[in-house]
Amino acid sequence: MAAEAGGAAGKRRIMCVGLVCLDIISVVEAFPAEDSDTSFIAADFQRRGVDTAHVAWYPRGDVPCACCLVNATSGSRTIVLHDTNLPDVTARHFERVDLSQYKWIHFEARNAVEQGAMLERVERHNRAAAPERRVRISVELEKPREELLPLMGRGDVVFISKDLAQHFGYQSAPEAVKGLRGRIQPGATLICAWAEQGADAMGPDGELLHSDAFPPETLVDTLGAGDTFNAAVIFALAEGGHKRGMATTWPWFSLAQPWHSHVSSWAPSPGRTLQDALTFGCRIAGRKCGIQGFDGIV
Ligand code: ADP
Repeated sequence: MAAEAGGAAGKRRIMCVGLVCLDIISVVEAFPAEDSDTSFIAADFQRRGVDTAHVAWYPRGDVPCACCLVNATSGSRTIVLHDTNLPDVTARHFERVDLSQYKWIHFEARNAVEQGAMLERVERHNRAAAPERRVRISVELEKPREELLPLMGRGDVVFISKDLAQHFGYQSAPEAVKGLRGRIQPGATLICAWAEQGADAMGPDGELLHSDAFPPETLVDTLGAGDTFNAAVIFALAEGGHKRGMATTWPWFSLAQPWHSHVSSWAPSPGRTLQDALTFGCRIAGRKCGIQGFDGIV
């Protein structure tokens, strides 16, 4: 190419062989103390009441880190760089967990073989446990990686991303839910969120459910909307179906209706519960999109 542009008799040019890199530069008041990224994350979990007893601490490796651009005009986010050399949690770590302390365990599909073994342990526990002592399992598939796909067959609730759905050739959440339903185990629920189009789900009865999104007045920051959606759906499903009298213990009364009015009619029938959880997930995720970060969603 260079020869053609330069011409046989023309000026010869300079070529560089290497790597092009986008530098994102953080200007800080003072250089942070060594390990303060780890301390920051641990302190943040503590402040939010997240139990870190089972965190696997590795002596080597860096804290996973991502650089994200949030467009202040549209709230859209682009992850320009993320990197980690930290190993994932293993089945061996998971052995230390006393399963009787949990009603729900959520798996973000990452390391299929190890997570397969963890799931096997929970499934074994569930086969031996009384129905009310069983641990419900959810699995989230975000990345279209071939080795993760079998994990779709392991959860009671399976979340699939728009990315994964598109990888399979689906153009919408309802199409994806209908098309991929055969990959989940009988009796399980498949859920697919699709940004401003809300989310769709199908429970064991095969009825297709939908919630519109709840866009905030101004889109500020959509980074983490999917995680917020998943957390809210799990929260709703983990509470619903067990307790009828939960209205008094529901912590998010400040939420606007119609969720509020749904609370008293929350019933253990799966269809109704799933629709409410879906709507709740979209409502909370919509709130998140209206604020920077996560503080003050509820
Ligand atoms: P992510 O890109 O973080 O994976 P998703 O596209 O899966 O997020 O969206 C999860 C949920 O967040 C959607 O179901 C929707 O309720 C809400 N959401 C995301 N983007 C928007 C948006 N632009 N406007 C309103 N709600 C949104």
